[in-house]
Amino acid sequence: MSDKYKNFNDLKKSEKENCDFKIDYKDIGSKIAIVAPHGGKIEDKTTEIAKLIAGNNCNYYSFIGQKSNNNRDLHITSHKFDEPRALELVGNSEIVIAIHGCMDEQKDEQKKKINYSKKIFIGGLNKDLIDKLQEVLEDASLPISTDQFPGIEPDNICNRATTRVDATGEGVQFELTRSFRDDGILCGKFIAAVSECLKTL
Ligand SMILES: [Zn+2]
Repeated sequence: MSDKYKNFNDLKKSEKENCDFKIDYKDIGSKIAIVAPHGGKIEDKTTEIAKLIAGNNCNYYSFIGQKSNNNRDLHITSHKFDEPRALELVGNSEIVIAIHGCMDEQKDEQKKKINYSKKIFIGGLNKDLIDKLQEVLEDASLPISTDQFPGIEPDNICNRATTRVDATGEGVQFELTRSFRDDGILCGKFIAAVSECLKTL
């Protein structure tokens, strides 16, 4: 599905802040930022999950869709997402982790439909952190996979941290399927495992 708006400037010509959408963020000066660019009614529960992972330990940002309908209109794809407060926050962070929601049904490389049911897809350019998080989530018996959503565009919001020593900006993104997000117990385990892992960085 293609997006209605090509970037934030385009979006704000038609959508009103604090009416159609709002921005919630907290910069506590942490080196880690947890972001949900498609929060609220755009990708349900991703705002809450991001906020809980951040807790009192990480910076947090969410763009929150709150229209009465057609919230999909507010979706700006991750490598075009350029809302200024998000760019500022990730630019002040060393490590960015983005939280997204996707449908259970996805297509494989041959365009064959696969129903993944409860699944976490991990992607991004930070290979070391991906390996670490993958291990932690496997140890917690959570359904983690790298089969979809590689998140490797350099402009992906998760790859735009700029204060890393090597200034690569490489980050991580999670895509959580609808049924995964609807399972409170699994979400709780996921939030706990990721936040614990981030405390070790
Ligand atoms: Zn998303």
